[in-house]
Amino acid sequence: MQAKLFRKGFLIDGTGRDPQELVDVLVEGNKITAIGQNLEIPEQYQPGSIDIIELRGKTIMPGLTEAHTHLTWQDALYIQDIDFKPIEETMVAAILNAKTMIKCGYTSCVSAAARGRVDIAIRDAINRGQIVGPRMLANGAEVTATGSFTDLHPNHVQVNGLSIFADGEDAVRRTVRSLFKEGADLVKLNVSGESLTAHARNEMTLYTYKEVRAAVEEAHARGKRVYTHARSSDSVKICVEAGVDIISHADFINDEVFEMVVENKDKHFIVPGLNWLVSTLEHGAEYFGQEAIDATGYKEGLEYALFNMNRLYKAGVRVLPGGDYGFKWCPHGQYARDLEHFVKLVGMTPMDAIVSATKYGGQIMEMEDKIGTIEVGKLADILVVDGNPLENICVFQDQSKLKVILKDGQYITNDLEVTYAIENSVA
Ligand SMILES: [Zn+2]
Repeated sequence: MQAKLFRKGFLIDGTGRDPQELVDVLVEGNKITAIGQNLEIPEQYQPGSIDIIELRGKTIMPGLTEAHTHLTWQDALYIQDIDFKPIEETMVAAILNAKTMIKCGYTSCVSAAARGRVDIAIRDAINRGQIVGPRMLANGAEVTATGSFTDLHPNHVQVNGLSIFADGEDAVRRTVRSLFKEGADLVKLNVSGESLTAHARNEMTLYTYKEVRAAVEEAHARGKRVYTHARSSDSVKICVEAGVDIISHADFINDEVFEMVVENKDKHFIVPGLNWLVSTLEHGAEYFGQEAIDATGYKEGLEYALFNMNRLYKAGVRVLPGGDYGFKWCPHGQYARDLEHFVKLVGMTPMDAIVSATKYGGQIMEMEDKIGTIEVGKLADILVVDGNPLENICVFQDQSKLKVILKDGQYITNDLEVTYAIENSVA
């Protein structure tokens, strides 16, 4: 693979350190091998054997991580639509969504559930270089209690859709074991309800401690992890006590559970999925009418979520972006809206919002020694942005501003001029 020297960029290295001006970054093979000002072109490179890319006025930084991904959700209006979409069309949509995601600068993602084995097949195809997409942790169907929010059909209708129903410890263990047998990197449990579904609301806690703990034991025994949907305070409490690794939403936590989350902050990640709430409030009425959106309680829910994310962030809990994209009003491709919400609604500094999507991204991927920051020895997952995201966090939402996207040292996008190491050959 051709070596690459990025010259005179504005470096945001993802560690949270202050940015640096006019920094060069050398990429050899799939790794970052040197960082500094006015780097010499290594002698072994002949003219034409290294790409020189001038970055003046542009930001060079790590690729981003999307921490609540559903590649197999596409254009859904109702959650049932995900159940009913044939698996073949779902597969095609997921392949296209993987490409969309990396073209948005997201070089890694954590799946928060998928239809069938689609995630697993896509992850493997990406890793083999057969299709284009982010580094990916694959998930299976949503492990759900009977009557929970993804249980959407009458008892006489059997659907092999986005859920696998498992009630009781033994059934949860069997289900989780079967998902790991199929190749999932993590499993998803729906521990609380979700008020978009009228019969299983946010404040309901629908799995017991023992059921959640059974999943965690089975996952950890295999070196794998558990991802949960947990909005109610009790559901988050159960997740923390049971040792769940990634907790999504966590909007309604009370003071007691807040303290628990903070005390255990090195053991879990929080992914609030803010854009789901914001987009539903912004656009839901166009699809469902204002009355239905009011009935979800999302307006109040968003206020709780913002209050809690602000205090979790201030207490040093790792809060990551990821927004349940894949619905008509919350489509794939808008992933960076979560970073805008982190800054404008949660109150993070732009630098901390970037750290949440980069350094913490490497951590949630369990690849912190390889990705998430621009440091010598790390894999070259790099984003070059036209502009300064510390001044405008929304810049990531404009795909035309994402000038270079590099994954594992390979171009996914390169809109900048490449020159060659002519000057080395002058003598
Ligand atoms: Zn989700």
